Amino acid sequence: MARIYLSPPDLAGSELELLTDAVESNWIAPLGPHVDAFEAELAARVHVPHAVALSSGTAGLHLALEVAGVGKGDEVWLSTLTFAATANAVSYIGATPVFVDCDAASWNLDPGLLAAELAAAARAGRVPKALIVVDLYGQCADYVAIRESCTRHGVVLIEDAAEALGATYRDQPAGSFGDLAVFSFNGNKIITTSGGGMLVSPRKDWIDRARYLATQARSPARHYEHEAIGYNYRLSNLLAAVGRAQLRDLDRRVEARRATNRAYRDALGHLPGWTFMPEASHCRSTAWLTCATIDPAQFGASRDAVIDALAADDIEARPVWKPMHQQPIFRGARVLGGAVADRLFELGICLPSGSRLDDAQRARIVERIVGARARDARG
Ligand SMILES: *Cc1c(COP(=O)(O)O)cnc(C)c1O
Repeated sequence: MARIYLSPPDLAGSELELLTDAVESNWIAPLGPHVDAFEAELAARVHVPHAVALSSGTAGLHLALEVAGVGKGDEVWLSTLTFAATANAVSYIGATPVFVDCDAASWNLDPGLLAAELAAAARAGRVPKALIVVDLYGQCADYVAIRESCTRHGVVLIEDAAEALGATYRDQPAGSFGDLAVFSFNGNKIITTSGGGMLVSPRKDWIDRARYLATQARSPARHYEHEAIGYNYRLSNLLAAVGRAQLRDLDRRVEARRATNRAYRDALGHLPGWTFMPEASHCRSTAWLTCATIDPAQFGASRDAVIDALAADDIEARPVWKPMHQQPIFRGARVLGGAVADRLFELGICLPSGSRLDDAQRARIVERIVGARARDARG
């Protein structure tokens, strides 16, 4: 039987048509009409006026911090429970990351903890320059409370929506809550260009600046004139053509992942010790990955035993992100709380969630999970 991957790329079917157009029109250089159209279409989709297509989501995070004026020695606070790219971008800038715990009700950045810690930081006269909030596994954080805290203390809010394209919070799209927001089109994300990203913002000056920096910081002149250190971060016209085809298929993809999430809940939700990542109120998640925690005593098998049982049948599952405050490279960094993220990492599992996963594959996965439990209970 074929291997089941965690979140493999999924072709929409119309990629070749748009790619052919790009090739036949000879626009295979970086930039071009498909890049412009992809930016406009994604911006419209997420209700944000300005967008710049980039070579990755990580590049988007890097440029977000740079255009927001974050510099060497500044503090940037961010969700500790995330993929390393979120924290790496802070280090690229030479800023100091401070990791913030999540809450058990949403697995996202804890808004109560943030409010209390920002108030304390303000009293001490060391408010961070920016806050990066991750929409974890496709679910938006609580932006009413988070925005209020950021506004009160003058902190730039950057939304890492890499996993959340197509999600909503209070009926507004993911990516519309930050002063800047970032999407990823990496191969494992909701839509993919094989590699790519997008930075969006209500502020035209910031997106113009990001576009300039992403294009080697070339000042308008006949010769090559540079007044800033630039990057080569733009998306190629070929990949933008693929992105446009993928974006047209977004709703189906989110529906498919949500259907998988429901199927897992129906099949496993009743098992003792098995608890799915909650869908917080006012949130409609992309269910980019379906995740759960496994209490080994109650469930009768540990998280790692379940991953092993799945692997034995060529099914890919993984632990929840290892919190950044536990990563060797960030040892010694300040962390606000951390126990909730620690527990989610200890007990949490991510299940195969690709947007082409079918009933037979889901049945095979469920059977292995239930089987792991029986075997462990017998042993
Ligand atoms: C994938 C991801 C990124 C990085 O995106 P790339 O396009 O792979 O650079 C950043 N943050 C989170 C939360 C992600 O899941």
